[in-house]
Amino acid sequence: MTDYSIKISPRAKHVSLKITPAEGLVVVVPRGFKNHDLLDELVESRSAWIKKVFSRYAEEPSLQTDAELPESIQLPALDEDWAIDYIQTNARSVRAVETASLRLQIMGNIEDSDACAKALRRWLMRRAKENLLPLLEQASEDCGLSFSKATIRGQRTRWGSCSSTGSINLNYQLMFVRPEMMNYVLVHELCHTAYLNHSASFYKLLESYIPDYRHHETQLKQAWRSMPAWLYRLQAA
Ligand SMILES: [Zn+2]
Repeated sequence: MTDYSIKISPRAKHVSLKITPAEGLVVVVPRGFKNHDLLDELVESRSAWIKKVFSRYAEEPSLQTDAELPESIQLPALDEDWAIDYIQTNARSVRAVETASLRLQIMGNIEDSDACAKALRRWLMRRAKENLLPLLEQASEDCGLSFSKATIRGQRTRWGSCSSTGSINLNYQLMFVRPEMMNYVLVHELCHTAYLNHSASFYKLLESYIPDYRHHETQLKQAWRSMPAWLYRLQAA
């Protein structure tokens, strides 16, 4: 049985579990909650999930499951700074709506922070499709390297990839890095349409477009650590 602490939340409507690196397993209960004898059973019933999250921590110590939701989102790659309003409505679900230039409303059952984080991620995915794909097209034209197809994904460990058929995947988290770093990834993947490996020929081609590519590679390795924590928010229902 996993040890846990109990936190009383005036905003909570239901009992929920969360896991943070600092506090471990926390059972969040609404104010006035009485059935404390049921909590052991609840924790036991979620043991598979608890195990999974703790094992993921072992691999990624920076993971934060209780990250606060953002009040603004900076997308340096697109030179955008979005203000976010959270608006409670009667809707059961949560959705993200762009209401004005650089203003985003998260509407619905906003007490469900996890649903809010998911709505934000869905919006980021749309934003990435609208912006990164045209930028890739442009880079492709500029470099004279063509690809067959491009998709946006949310990989946890790669900024991009390129298949033997010339199909390129880009990570939506590229919107959180500086424009020149994002551009480096676009060009790197485009160079893979000529060389699938990381051979000397590959780097020679890459260097012809981006002479200081090594600098960007180093920066990109470190950039994972500066991704907003709420992106990785996980919470049991
Ligand atoms: Zn590569």
